[in-house]
Amino acid sequence: MSDTLVDFDEVLTRYEPVIGLETHVELGTASKMFCGCSTTFGAEPNTQTCPVCLGLPGSLPVANAAAIESTIRIGLALGCRIATWCRFSRKNYFYPDIPKGFQTTQYDEPLCTAGHLDVEVDGEIYRVEIERVHLEEDTGKNLHVGGATGRIHGADHSLIDYNRAGIPLVEIVTRPIPGAGAKAPEVAKAYVTELRSILLALGVSEVRMEQGNLRCDVNTSLAPIGSLEWGTRTETKNVNSLRSVERAVRFEMRRQAAVLDREGHVLQETRHFHEDTGTTSPGRSKEEATDYRYFPEPDLVPVAPDEEWVAKLAATLPELPAARRARVSEEWGISPTEMAWLVNAGAVELVSDTVAAGASPADARKWWLGELARRANDAGVELSELAVTPAQVAELVGLVSAGTINDQLARQALDGVLAGEGDPAAVVESRGLAVMGESDELVSAVEAAIEANPDVAEKVRGGKVQAIGALVGAVMKATRGKADAATVKRMLEERL
Ligand SMILES: [Zn+2]
Repeated sequence: MSDTLVDFDEVLTRYEPVIGLETHVELGTASKMFCGCSTTFGAEPNTQTCPVCLGLPGSLPVANAAAIESTIRIGLALGCRIATWCRFSRKNYFYPDIPKGFQTTQYDEPLCTAGHLDVEVDGEIYRVEIERVHLEEDTGKNLHVGGATGRIHGADHSLIDYNRAGIPLVEIVTRPIPGAGAKAPEVAKAYVTELRSILLALGVSEVRMEQGNLRCDVNTSLAPIGSLEWGTRTETKNVNSLRSVERAVRFEMRRQAAVLDREGHVLQETRHFHEDTGTTSPGRSKEEATDYRYFPEPDLVPVAPDEEWVAKLAATLPELPAARRARVSEEWGISPTEMAWLVNAGAVELVSDTVAAGASPADARKWWLGELARRANDAGVELSELAVTPAQVAELVGLVSAGTINDQLARQALDGVLAGEGDPAAVVESRGLAVMGESDELVSAVEAAIEANPDVAEKVRGGKVQAIGALVGAVMKATRGKADAATVKRMLEERL
């Protein structure tokens, strides 16, 4: 069944969107939330489990102090109030990836509440209110085998990996965000981008969206313009890239407008996002909180962070992205407009880290916003998803400044780095990309060019110096761009 869609611009002539985001972040702690099992990604299925995270009778959980500390630091970075006393709850539901029959989470007593995060889109600041930041445990992972789509429908059988069950998971929930209008999709993306940068700066998670460290549920609703009530929302689950966050909101706005035009109301439901088509499809109809029969977890003591500890954590927060941007734009001498451009390209941290690794701010910006931005765009991925690190870009820039390679050879070296052939210096070595010195090979290429173009050589000898360009070009072509143009020019001049 394909959905009817209304043109995006037309949606905005009749409806006002309200968005909201629920973001799950897997913390990078060494052990799980309530047991000592390892959290290392990519281990053989079901090798990182124990009676506690498998929910065996008689096993007792103990809360992970490092996870509580990370959650408080996230709350502080988002300007939240930190609870002086709170408890975990049981969220009861049966699903095979939740071996205990309930998820240990926080319900009416979250660790952090009432924060905010300001995001900038096209020079305008949007304040996103944070309702809560709470701590819970991740579920196991189902693998549905035999179907075409990887979903349970049409599968022959399902396998479950409990390695992920019990990994500490922080859920960050925004309040509904009204008033973004046509910018709603971009505000959603900007929020997740900024949140991801904060989590990176805090060092609490690897936040790799492709590995599921950061997963977004995107809520979208539409109400007729001027309506006093907000519309019914849908919740698009597990949107796994920054670009998809924007696409998911855009698609839901266009789909819901068509549904409202036709039927007058939208069904409250969860939906799945499809990366390949950029569309969503219905999941299950949404449960109410009362369906889960929440009650306080009797096996865990309450969490009561003392004031002194919280004050110490607040005092030792790292420089956060917004402050970092303000500082570096002054240090690099760039305008707010240029900074906004870097932010939109998701390049601030990348450029900043490249500078920290030894490149000049101008070179770092040139590579990330030029060649690398072009390649990311061609591949349809974010800059940060390219298989090259800021340290490697700094190394590439260093090789160019040292005269080992020129810009053209640097682009070829970059091909090798992106293809996983190693660091730039190694690629230059293995692909033989270094600029040619005044070698015998270059001398004979220079002499061959003079010999092959006697008329041009005669013009140069006769005083038409600019004609030398044609000879330089011939040498560069013969050496496949590996010679240094200035050296070639000097060698030609010496011989004419
Ligand atoms: Zn365990």
